[in-house]
Amino acid sequence: MAKEIILGIDLGTTNSVVSVIENGTPKVLENPNGKRTTPSVVAFKNGEIIVGEAAKRQLETNPDSVASIKRLMGTDKTVHVNNKDYKPEEISAMILSYMKDYADKKLGQPVNKAVITVPAYFDNAQREATKNAGIIAGLDVVRIINEPTAAALAFGVDKDKDLNHKILVFDLGGGTFDVSILEMENGTFEVLSTSGDNHLGGDDWDHKIVAWMIEKIKEKYDFDPSKDKMAMARLKEEAERAKITLSESMMANISLPFLAMNANGPVNVELELKRSEFEAMTADLLERTKKPLYDALKEAKLDWNEINEVLLVGGSTRMPAVQKLVADVTGKRPNNSINPDEVVSVGAATQGAIMAGEIKDVLLLDVTPLTLGIVVEGDLVAPLIPRNTTIPVTKSQIFSTAVDNQTAVSIVITQGERELARDNKILGQFNLEGIEPAPRGVPQIEVSFSIDVNGITTVTAKDKKTNKEQSVVIQNTSSLSKEEVEKMVKDAEANREADNKKRHEIELSVKTEQIINDIEKSLNSEEAKKLPDSQKSELKKEVDEMKELLDKKDFEKLEIKVKEFEQKMAQAMEILKKQGFDPNNFNPNEGNPNQQ
Ligand code: AMP
Repeated sequence: MAKEIILGIDLGTTNSVVSVIENGTPKVLENPNGKRTTPSVVAFKNGEIIVGEAAKRQLETNPDSVASIKRLMGTDKTVHVNNKDYKPEEISAMILSYMKDYADKKLGQPVNKAVITVPAYFDNAQREATKNAGIIAGLDVVRIINEPTAAALAFGVDKDKDLNHKILVFDLGGGTFDVSILEMENGTFEVLSTSGDNHLGGDDWDHKIVAWMIEKIKEKYDFDPSKDKMAMARLKEEAERAKITLSESMMANISLPFLAMNANGPVNVELELKRSEFEAMTADLLERTKKPLYDALKEAKLDWNEINEVLLVGGSTRMPAVQKLVADVTGKRPNNSINPDEVVSVGAATQGAIMAGEIKDVLLLDVTPLTLGIVVEGDLVAPLIPRNTTIPVTKSQIFSTAVDNQTAVSIVITQGERELARDNKILGQFNLEGIEPAPRGVPQIEVSFSIDVNGITTVTAKDKKTNKEQSVVIQNTSSLSKEEVEKMVKDAEANREADNKKRHEIELSVKTEQIINDIEKSLNSEEAKKLPDSQKSELKKEVDEMKELLDKKDFEKLEIKVKEFEQKMAQAMEILKKQGFDPNNFNPNEGNPNQQ
């Protein structure tokens, strides 16, 4: 039996998109004009309903045309066109019906079921109206989902089910701006906050160019296009084209041949707009996106460093200035790896495919099959990217030196689930040299793992003081077969207890060595001269005992010994402090020295 198909429809304020998942892959369906997005515009001409591109073209000239009907969804308002009053859901239904028709043709079979998206802030009435629009269009709306959730699904954020993820979705479309913060836990999404500006979008950027064009045309051609509806429609279309060009190029040529006739003959407009001029004239619009970002964060009661992912949605996020602003405000590189016009629809189709049972065991290809980490303390693994993390991903952690005045560290990259490095696969190794001499634990070495969509892993180590860095690229971290991966995971399970014991022993050994080292260093220091001989010899005795237990590998006794010593030290410190002794010069470092 053929798999059930469920359409994923993004019913947008400016544009709408319909997709399906075919054999596990998203497919955006093209409209009869060969376009993947359809303007959400309806026009009536001689009793005929026109939807999409053709309707958009007559928006300025045909009074019987309707745009941005989404703004009225869920209200009692009607629009008077075609000599009739239409409810918003009836107009939306015309858009949906047009899309269903072309989807049926593209797929070669009638499809009745759909998942439709709505903004996260839509209330019940608005959601009901959207559902009703679907019903009027002959669709069985199997689910209404939030646009930011759909975006997160399309980006595959849900695949890493073990993680608690906070996701910020920045959606700047043609006429609206939405910011949403979601929390994903156990594969389900919760909207923590929403903010935005219902009247800010790419159209406003176009209007700025139109205003600029009017002035330039008046100056250069002695013609005022603002009084001429046909001319204005062409200006608007050309302005959007120039804006889109400026997302790629530093300069756009504006060409409007035969814009009108004046005393000197036809007005053939030729202008040039630089990206820098465009950005300057639209700086105020960009500024308006900031407050909603901060508001959403505040409402979600979060800090920027608690946001794990920033996703870009909506065609206007292709503008470089917008991307830069989002990166500057959030401090994160936003993810724009999926076409921002299509991502919501693809997410809706993904939801449809999950409901139809088409997507089940989500492809392991998109997740790290095994944990990646580095070797610390000789033979232990510090995991940086746990297994099953969705890629692409970047993670960093700060490490430090293990001995005083260490000027180089060796970064050994491991793959696998075992506690000890020797039981895992070693993927690569490099040295970071030129660290400034300092007491152990002081240098800050940032180690970052970055895996791109193709599974290519780059590991970088950077000394934060000197900014010296070194990196290695590992071509394929997922070259292991499914069986090999399963075996490694099973082995880790089987050896969990023994591995934990070994990890504990190694940690205890390292700690003991440091205590011994610290005591010996302190006993040789100037400050130690103030100590009475009896205390010095007691400390020496402690050191000898610890050394002996360490040599004998008697970890049980050693653990007790270290604990007792630490207690004694704490008490001694108190007394010494009262005697005016400076404990800073006599402070056996606690914890793991290699890792901060
Ligand atoms: P949407 O509603 O998400 O389809 O977004 C539509 C808006 O994105 C319109 O204002 C488009 O002009 C704008 N847009 C699409 N592509 C680009 C681009 N490359 N650069 C700037 N804006 C764009």
